[in-house]
Amino acid sequence: MKVRCDFCKTEYNLSSVPNAPVKCAICGNVWSVAVPPRKNSWLMFFAALCALLSAIIFTVAVITQHQAKNVNRGPLVVDVENIETITDADGRTHLVVNGTVTNISDIIYGVPDLIIVSSDEKGRVLAQQKFMPSAALLGAGDKVNFRHILGKQPSGVKKISAKLADIQLMQEDK
Ligand SMILES: [Zn+2]
Repeated sequence: MKVRCDFCKTEYNLSSVPNAPVKCAICGNVWSVAVPPRKNSWLMFFAALCALLSAIIFTVAVITQHQAKNVNRGPLVVDVENIETITDADGRTHLVVNGTVTNISDIIYGVPDLIIVSSDEKGRVLAQQKFMPSAALLGAGDKVNFRHILGKQPSGVKKISAKLADIQLMQEDK
């Protein structure tokens, strides 16, 4: 093993850890050689892996708990604020749905995909389009705007609504 005089920094090679303090031949400094910690890299790797796994399991448990609360309390509210018509460069018109997602709870929630539902006058679903809103996480009380350009709509669409998960929250006449 290598030891170094902690005063003049001269290095010495020792065959074993001395039991008594050693004296530097150059400067006369006397110091105790510390036993270096035994590094078992496999053991350390295994310990790190265990720590990582337990962290992942804990995180999954927390997320699962949040999702369970999400179902019970419905902390995210989707509002369709307006539906406008735009015309693209080729002269085709598209419907654009503008709205907000609001976190009405006091904890952070991940924003799931939103589904725009097109239905006829009797409420029959004619088309559904899923999209991902821009915000991934919403803090307590936060609100995020979304804007989604709908693809080609089937004929007979009278209502456009937005929902997340299985909760239908708001609808507006076309
Ligand atoms: Zn020395």
